[in-house]
Amino acid sequence: MKRALADPTPFLEGLLEAFRDLREGEMRREIGELEHTDADCFCIAMATVDGQVHAVGDRRHAFTLQSLSKPFVYGLALDSFGREEVHRKVGVEPTGEAFNSIIELEEDHLPYNPMINSGAIAMSAMLHHAHPRKATAQVLAMFGAYLGRPARLHEAVDLSVREGGHRNKAIAHLLRHFDVIGDDIDGALQLYAHQCSVAVTTPELALMAATLANGGVHPRTGQRAVAREHLRDILTLMFTCGMYDSSGRWAYTVGLPAKSGVSGGVLAVVPGQMGLAVYSPRLDAHGHSVRGVEVCRAWAAAWGLSLFEG
Ligand code: GLN
Repeated sequence: MKRALADPTPFLEGLLEAFRDLREGEMRREIGELEHTDADCFCIAMATVDGQVHAVGDRRHAFTLQSLSKPFVYGLALDSFGREEVHRKVGVEPTGEAFNSIIELEEDHLPYNPMINSGAIAMSAMLHHAHPRKATAQVLAMFGAYLGRPARLHEAVDLSVREGGHRNKAIAHLLRHFDVIGDDIDGALQLYAHQCSVAVTTPELALMAATLANGGVHPRTGQRAVAREHLRDILTLMFTCGMYDSSGRWAYTVGLPAKSGVSGGVLAVVPGQMGLAVYSPRLDAHGHSVRGVEVCRAWAAAWGLSLFEG
């Protein structure tokens, strides 16, 4: 951080004001939860590696992780099976396609990376296959370590992700067809729905990002959430693939490892320093929060946060 602020709250308030009138984008209706969400809901938060949390806006509003869960579950897969075994099932290339694309699967028969649905479902299948009865508890325990409290599922969202996920079912069947995953397709999809349905607030999302910034140790509880040796892989793939087919523009304008979810959350990691999180449910064509992207761009520019800032 080029400009360390003793109290960043006025700066965050300024971001909130600057982007409050930005009402472009659409809410994703297929996930039941969002029907009940105020489209104007807006929160900006940051957490430092020494455990300070600053948040402005709707800081108590909870939402589900959706694709924000993917880097964390990838980390759990690395911890559970090791890098070599994990990357027999998933690659490390950006797709240039949408998060739920199947094109690359058809071409190369292996998901390109764990930040898109096909790669994430491959990770769920590995975890489920290893411990069919314990995998959900294992995933929730992992999220609990990042949250610093027990992780909870939003039951209604869990159900709607499972029941409405025809595209994900198609992806899972293709993965089965190409022998990336085994026969228990329903078990893999159920675990994937669970990881998407973990409920968090924006300050908690910032703490999850700060845990990644802090070498995998939660800044407040001191609990390790992921092995140190796997952070580089997680952050690299967040940087190159975390924002799907706009990862290039994101790298160019923000310059930080990041991830978004269709619920409207965005997180970014400033390694060794802090985690950023923004929540606002209206999405752009890539499935990213419109305000989330703009806030992160303005924030990174103002504080010189890009990894390559001179
Ligand atoms: N549950 C959503 C899905 O699988 C998550 C996608 C996302 O957040 N981009 O389609």
